[in-house]
This record gives sequence, structure tokens and C-alpha cells, in this order.
Amino acid sequence: MANKKRILITGAAGFLGSHLCERFIKEGMHVIAMDNLITGDLRNIEHLFKHPDFEFYHHDVSNFVHVSGQLDYILHFASPASPIDYLKIPIQTLKVGSLGIHNLLGLARDKKSRILIASTSEVYGDPLVHPQTEEYYGNVNPIGPRGVYDEAKRFQEAMTMAYHTYHKVDTRILRIFNTYGPRMRLNDGRVLPAFIGQALRGEDLTVFGDGSQTRSFCYVDDQVEGIYRLLMSDYHLPVNIGNPDEITILQFAEEIIKLTGTDQKIIFKELPKDDPKQRQPDITLAKSLLGWTPKVSRAEGLKITYEYFKTLPTEVLYQREH
Ligand code: NAD
Ligand code: UDP
Repeated sequence: MANKKRILITGAAGFLGSHLCERFIKEGMHVIAMDNLITGDLRNIEHLFKHPDFEFYHHDVSNFVHVSGQLDYILHFASPASPIDYLKIPIQTLKVGSLGIHNLLGLARDKKSRILIASTSEVYGDPLVHPQTEEYYGNVNPIGPRGVYDEAKRFQEAMTMAYHTYHKVDTRILRIFNTYGPRMRLNDGRVLPAFIGQALRGEDLTVFGDGSQTRSFCYVDDQVEGIYRLLMSDYHLPVNIGNPDEITILQFAEEIIKLTGTDQKIIFKELPKDDPKQRQPDITLAKSLLGWTPKVSRAEGLKITYEYFKTLPTEVLYQREH
């Protein structure tokens, strides 16, 4: 169809990317998916392969990115996202946040596409302002273990603003707060898959530190709705998207034990360096600008996610990556 909008989604075989591919096909767009599979999995998108409005390219976006034909939108989601992943592949993480964004902004400039980049609450580091508003500049240790991710994302925002200002590229900056749901990798080390995996294998749940650190978890469908609305808005400054329902990690472990109906014990392990002590999005801007609020409660979202993890084959459950 001649008038179909065409959208490039990088990181398409990952958790969020795969849900975005589905959403934008549903919106009637032609999706060009790109991923180098470094932390993603083709199984997340294989159900889309036969769809006439879906095409996939196995490509590392830190190398020159070429797309033929018209390109209306770009969603840049390629990047390792879990602390364990980006500690294992720090250089690739820095490269995709710097060389990758440079390639994609160049593509957006060339094709006159609107580009939305996936930034993160990690730009606030271990925050001294709570809850975190978009105005807060953050508290990041550039040379700490998490610096490879946090600084890559901060550079990505700076580069995006520079292309907006100097080349008039139509840009959007999304700051994502901890988002979860089906298709997270069971062994990616993030707290939700870690706890559910442990419960399913009958292991103790590993709480890092004393578990008093907080996070605020957003269900994937809410996040995708926020992304869609931000992309369709005309706002080019950063916007937080996340669920402000804050919980300590210890309470979260207790919730997972209850949810899974297991009687696993909680054991305490050393808190990783620079682990943020508290995190909660201030979503005043998203509410007023986009009319967006999260709709899915943690209880509902966790139930759906647990059902998904239960369907995974045993070899995936016992696959060790770290
Ligand atoms: P994920 O690991 O499931 O997905 C990331 C995808 O990017 C993977 O499929 C991976 O193979 C791909 N990728 C990585 N480097 C690449 C490269 N150089 N070229 C091509 N593809 C590459 O993680 P996710 O949770 O879906 O995160 C997606 C994006 O959202 C990331 O940019 C992440 O920083 C951001 N984000 C996610 C969260 C969250 O809570 N899920 C929070 C903040 C930010
Ligand atoms: N965490 C934990 N046990 C685990 C994995 C993570 O207690 O097995 C903690 C981690 O230290 C952090 C919180 O859970 O305080 C969220 O960690 P995650 O890696 O999911 O995301 P991020 O730190 O990037 O928010």
C-alpha cells in the first residue's frame, strides 16, 4: 500500500522491541525490524516473520545503517539493558549508545524521519531527588561499573538534542523506568526474571543488600502505550514513562513468593556497587502532555508475566548464562 507509514525498530528481537513491533503493525504501519541478537532472541518475533508488514535485518547498528525507501519513524531501542548484560559487554554498550545513535540520527536526517530514542531512569543514577522529575540532572558515577550504560544513555540524549538543535531532526526522548512483562529473558539477571526463575527452580530468592532499595515497576503494555503517545506528540524534551507504584526489593521478593505459591526462603547477597537506593518516576509531565497514566496494577501484570514464564521449556529454565 503506497501510503503505509514505515517504521524502523532497532532492538526488535528484545523484550520491549518485540512488543513494539506488534503494536506498530497493529497501528497499520510497515515494520522494519533490526537486531544483532546480542541479548535478544528471534523467538520473540518469529510469529511475525510471515506478516506482510514485517521484515527483519540481522545487523549491528553500531555499524553504518542503511534502509532503502521511505522511512517515516525510527525507534532506537537497541542496547543491552540489564546490569549483568552491560557489565559483560561494556564496550558494545558504549558503542551502541554513541556510534549507534550517531548512525540512526544520520539516517533520520537523511530520510527526514521522526526518531524516538529509548533513554532510561539510569540517567538519574543513584538519585538525590525523589521522585525523579525530568528536570533533575542526576547523580551518575562515570567510572563505576554502571557508568558504561548510564553514560552511553546520557551521551545518546546529548547527541539527540544536538541533532534536534543543529540539524532540525524531529526527535523524541523517552526515559523508561523499570518495565517488565512476557519475553523478558529469564536469565538476564534483572530482578523480576531472577526471582521468578528462582521460585520456579525451587531455589532461594537472592535479595541484594538488605532489600531496602526501591524500584517502581511498569507493565509492558502501559509502557508501549506511553511510547506510542510520545512518538505521536510534538514534544522533543525528555519524558519519564513508568509506574510510580514504588516498592522495596525485599517486599517485591515476598510478593513473588506469594504469587508463585512456593515456600522459598529469601537469602541476602552483597549489594552491587552504585546500585540506586531509590527510584520512582514523577509522571506529571506524561499525564499532562500525553494524557497517559499506567493502567495495569503490579498484581495483574505479575500474574500475566508469571504465566508466561511457566510456559518456557525446562532447558530454558535451567540455562545458566552467568
Ligand atoms: P533487551 O535486552 O531485551 O533488548 C535489547 C535488544 O537490543 C536485544 O534484542 C539486543 O540483541 C539488541 N541490541 C543490542 N545491541 C545492539 C546493536 N549494537 N545492534 C543491534 N541490536 C542490538 O532489553 P529491553 O528491556 O527490551 O530494552 C530495550 C531498550 O529499552 C534498551 O535501549 C534499554 O536501554 C531501554 N530500557 C529498558 C528498560 C526496561 O526496564 N526494560 C528500562 C530503561 C531503558
Ligand atoms: N536485585 C536483587 N536480586 C537479584 C537481582 C536484582 O535484589 O537477583 C536488585 C538489584 O540490586 C536492584 C533491584 O533488584 O536493587 C533492581 O535490579 P534490576 O537489575 O532489575 O534493575 P536496575 O537496578 O537496573 O533497576
